[in-house]
Amino acid sequence: MKITNFPRVRITHGPTPLEFMPRMSEALGGPNLYIKRDDCTGLGSGGNKTRKLEFLMADAVKHGADTIITQGATQSNHARQTVAIAAKMGMKCEILLEDRTGSKVENYKKSGNVFLDLLYGANVQEVPGGTDMNSAMAKLAEELVAKGQKPYIIPGGGSNPIGALGYVVCALELVDQFNTLGLNVSSVVHATGSAGTQAGLVAGFEGTRSQIPVLGIGVRAPKEAQENNVYNLAVKTAELLGVPGSISRDSVKANCDYVGGGYGVPTDGMVEAVTMMARLEGILLDPVYSGKGMAGLIDLCRKGHFKKGENVVFLHTGGSVALYGYMDAFSGLKPL
Ligand SMILES: *Cc1c(COP(=O)(O)O)cnc(C)c1O
Repeated sequence: MKITNFPRVRITHGPTPLEFMPRMSEALGGPNLYIKRDDCTGLGSGGNKTRKLEFLMADAVKHGADTIITQGATQSNHARQTVAIAAKMGMKCEILLEDRTGSKVENYKKSGNVFLDLLYGANVQEVPGGTDMNSAMAKLAEELVAKGQKPYIIPGGGSNPIGALGYVVCALELVDQFNTLGLNVSSVVHATGSAGTQAGLVAGFEGTRSQIPVLGIGVRAPKEAQENNVYNLAVKTAELLGVPGSISRDSVKANCDYVGGGYGVPTDGMVEAVTMMARLEGILLDPVYSGKGMAGLIDLCRKGHFKKGENVVFLHTGGSVALYGYMDAFSGLKPL
């Protein structure tokens, strides 16, 4: 496995910190909880897509692109980070935002990531929920080519084998940090959506034979579909890395019990998790991904799935900007 074989735009402020969370650990009375701060990747208010974009944008440059096309839900963190990096690299950016939640709330439609997409200079188009987003991007690419532009399409969430390399890098970074601290980690837990983060972590941990289990907390698809998506992408990522056949199906685990009413629909557990993390650790999660991921981790601690004395790392994948699109979900907030 030789990650330095791949062209990469160095953007991430890394290594991102690995911090202990004393007050969350105490409040839950179970494992020692640590947090990997990939909300602090540095680009355009941070998040996990920045690591993927290092490899995707290098590939776009290799292909001579002058325009980036990508897609996501209305409050997509991926779209926002893509526009920011396109701005930094002097490229145009076209964003297709799918109305996946049907929310009519003004903040959801205009604030948070949507506002930043415009601020970073994207051309933003809204499309109805259920649109075939890959065909929509392909069609837009044809139109741009006809106008003489050179578009490069980045899939939703930046999740293909090239993008997943960003999380192979994160796996190597984590192994190094665990080694330095002498920290014996029993699990890395994070929110999983378009699958690139988990696929990259699994491929990276398997590639180094570090035997660190990863648990994805699903935010959209049911368990079996989510695990299959992650597994298929991890297999392709390992092939790209030159370590084919290294991924076992057993190493891909997702728990999809915390999705609630659907992708991007708030849950009580998410509101509790976001509020606890803000009040106990001064850390902002997001309502769509890390909030539900942490809700899963909290519940699993309470149920005794993770035990006292174990060291569990929550990978904070970013997204707090989306909180401004979801203020209504927190209308019941009271002072401590
Ligand atoms: C995209 C995203 C995820 C999920 O990562 P995938 O690689 O799409 O599975 C998790 N958290 C946040 C904040 C995200 O924006």
